[in-house]
Amino acid sequence: MYRLDHWIGGRSVPSSNDYIEAVNPSSGRVAGHVAAGTAADVDRAVAAAQAAADDWRRYPAAERGRVMMAIAAALRANRDHLAALERADTGKPMATALAEIEGSAAYFEFYGSLVYLPAGDVLDVAPDQHVFTRREPFGVVGVITPWNLPLNQAARAIAPALTAGNVVVAKPSEVTSQTTIAMAELASEAGLPDGVINVVLGTGATVGEAIVRHPGVRKVAFTGSVGVGQAIGRIAAERIIPLTLELGGKSANIVFDDADLDLAARESVKGFTLNAGQVCSAGTRILVQRGIYDRFLDAARAAVEALVPGESLGPIITAPQFRRVQGFFDVAREDGARLVAGGCVARVEGHPDGHFIAPTLYADVSNDMRIARQEIFGPVGVVIPFDTEAEAIAIANDSDYGLIGTLWTRDISRALRVADRIEAGQIFVNVWNTMSVQTPFGGHKHSGYGREKGIEALHHYGHVKTVTVKV
Ligand code: NAD
Repeated sequence: MYRLDHWIGGRSVPSSNDYIEAVNPSSGRVAGHVAAGTAADVDRAVAAAQAAADDWRRYPAAERGRVMMAIAAALRANRDHLAALERADTGKPMATALAEIEGSAAYFEFYGSLVYLPAGDVLDVAPDQHVFTRREPFGVVGVITPWNLPLNQAARAIAPALTAGNVVVAKPSEVTSQTTIAMAELASEAGLPDGVINVVLGTGATVGEAIVRHPGVRKVAFTGSVGVGQAIGRIAAERIIPLTLELGGKSANIVFDDADLDLAARESVKGFTLNAGQVCSAGTRILVQRGIYDRFLDAARAAVEALVPGESLGPIITAPQFRRVQGFFDVAREDGARLVAGGCVARVEGHPDGHFIAPTLYADVSNDMRIARQEIFGPVGVVIPFDTEAEAIAIANDSDYGLIGTLWTRDISRALRVADRIEAGQIFVNVWNTMSVQTPFGGHKHSGYGREKGIEALHHYGHVKTVTVKV
């Protein structure tokens, strides 16, 4: 049984309040206790961050880059330990956990290399004026993250924030806090000055909201649900601080009748079952052209039935979320969808209380059914038939969300035409979700705004100041 405390000013700080029980979703049993932070803990963390801000901002670029590279190396050197912590919190398969740790290290490596980018431009305004711009950090950045890819999402925001010269107060999800704390400790051992990364543990309603409301916090990067994103947006609007919002998705995965059918079926199934469907970029609405509809369903059913809950498919994170996913089985029945596979809880030997859902596929779904409109966040895919390219685009865009679009076709002109018209932050053609640290990531509509990843993210972690000098 572990006990997890805050990380503030370069050291572990015990809870001044109570502890929250953390449950392992594979066993369904309490595995540890996590500090239930308070607004006073957030005050302490912001003060520690502010004390470190000026030095970190003025760190020579090469030294900042060296520390970032050392953090990447430390994450890699401890990958097995970090993957074990992530698995204890989430129950995800080892391969998924290891990929997540590698991705987290890659963020520090990539942003560590970007410290050498020019910090501004010289503008040729007039012969008697010397005008230049300079990028400056915001100061204290709040980073609030969810439970599905815990370390990865924390690293995705923290690494660019640090490269841009900011200091951070982070709050991981209360159900997956272990790796964010471990990362902060490893960063400290790798030479990051005290106070540059602080982690306050606890609930969103107390700690998360206190971070967003804190007058010392000058920007918030939030990854999570639409409802919480909207609540944070209201506070940020009052305070007039910038936000990055990485929210949910109900992404369209369009299979045209000239696609490589086996590849499309296999990858489409991966698109809604990876991490037991608990990824924002899941391609959960599978639009299939009518000429290949039956053949696609056969191939997809075979791919679904090849998945093994408890091995290639992990559990659903919490008991309430487990119940919520099961609730969609009734909703699908009421709305008239045809069950092709799954549609029930999966029994996994040795884990009688685990939160496992059988991978589930519905066919004959129309885009107005609730299973086509709401983000389920479980291993559930819905297949919607279509006839024409125009119809596919219309269905894809008829959604509150706009995170990802995936296209399966051998016709490159069609791929480019459709990619141009899909309302989403990223489009994949004949491949799903091969993301890299270099590719900007973010949403349209309720999927959020701002961009993480790539050089692009650096523009979301600082001000531009213009200096004009009469010469
Ligand atoms: P959530 O919104 O419930 O929680 C996310 C984080 O916000 C947690 O740390 C939580 O404690 C905190 N929080 C909760 N209430 C808060 C409040 N009032 N003020 C401040 N912070 C608060 O989301 P979740 O259930 O942990 O994660 C699942 C959601 O995250 C899904 O909707 C998923 O699509 C989304 N997500 C998006 C991305 C992306 O990059 N677009 C990635 C992963 C997950």
